Amino acid sequence: MTPEDGGALAYLQGVLAKAGFAVHRMTFAEPGTAPIENLYARIGTEKPNLVFAGHTDVVPPGDEAAWHHPPFAGEIAGERLYGRGAVDMKGGIACFVAAAADYLAANGGKPKRGSISLLITGDEESVAVNGTVKLLQWVAERGETFDHCILGEPSNVETPGDTIKAGRRGSLNGTLIVTGRQGHVAYPDRADNPIRGLVTLIAALQAPLDDGSAQFAPSNLEFTSIDVGNPTVNLIPAEARARFNIRYNDRHTQAALKTLLEQRARAAAAGRLHYAFDWQPSNADVFVTKPGPFTELAAAAIAEVTGLKPKLSTTGGTSDARFIKDYCPVLEFGLVGQTMHSVDECTPVADLVTLTAVYRRIIEKYFA
Ligand SMILES: [Zn+2]
Repeated sequence: MTPEDGGALAYLQGVLAKAGFAVHRMTFAEPGTAPIENLYARIGTEKPNLVFAGHTDVVPPGDEAAWHHPPFAGEIAGERLYGRGAVDMKGGIACFVAAAADYLAANGGKPKRGSISLLITGDEESVAVNGTVKLLQWVAERGETFDHCILGEPSNVETPGDTIKAGRRGSLNGTLIVTGRQGHVAYPDRADNPIRGLVTLIAALQAPLDDGSAQFAPSNLEFTSIDVGNPTVNLIPAEARARFNIRYNDRHTQAALKTLLEQRARAAAAGRLHYAFDWQPSNADVFVTKPGPFTELAAAAIAEVTGLKPKLSTTGGTSDARFIKDYCPVLEFGLVGQTMHSVDECTPVADLVTLTAVYRRIIEKYFA
């Protein structure tokens, strides 16, 4: 579990070194956060550099007694592999490493041309401060570049091959604070109840943000909490707050979105309400990987192995792809996500075989 590594990266280092990769291990730290172990491995020195990215850390198992198979044993039962991280995403990493090792063995121990790399972090699930962000900088400072990236997050919805994630929505959190005047509830004329103002502003902010774009569903603003914190029955409070999150598409930037919502609030307040926005910093910008030869190559490999034409999707939460996209085009393709983060997280063993074959085919085609 983040930030503990539990020997995962040391194990990976051994397997990759044996397959001929130059393996670098680094621990990144920053005051106020746990130090995190990371790994960068590369075989070949030429371009193009195809990089596979992933994370070895996992979310906690929750109540272990609720699991039918121990969360950290990797038990196989009924042709399924059980365990925290089976799907999200030690399973995906295992498939890529197996595919790369198989490709290298079939090609005299090195890629036909170019390089294969792995960027593996021990913190994607938590604050993600000492992980992929710093790993990417570390590699860039060595003068190395990436050409294309496959991030092995569980991307498929029902069956392996149904979905590639080719972008992610942005995420922005804010708090709306309305200030009134405290007073006795029996004398409302002597007070100014901020809850009335908050309701007005919430209604204005909930209006649709857009109707979607070519590759994205409509943006959505969702209120997550309304807080007054007033334990007294006969008191009009002085302040009311509402927290919200926005998942936004490529029709917005963070700055434009803030301006839009501030304009809406100003219009609804009509000069009568005292309010302020408190925006939290966000490193989760929207991005989209435009369809092109790399997407076509991945989709063709998937189709050849699974018989399915994958859908290009931009749904779901954020991932480390939001950092990688600043370095090279990134697609996410991994296992089926249904059981990730849940009790009895598991994957059919057959899906691991399929995913390995897909990665193997992608590598083959990429260096053909
Ligand atoms: Zn993940």
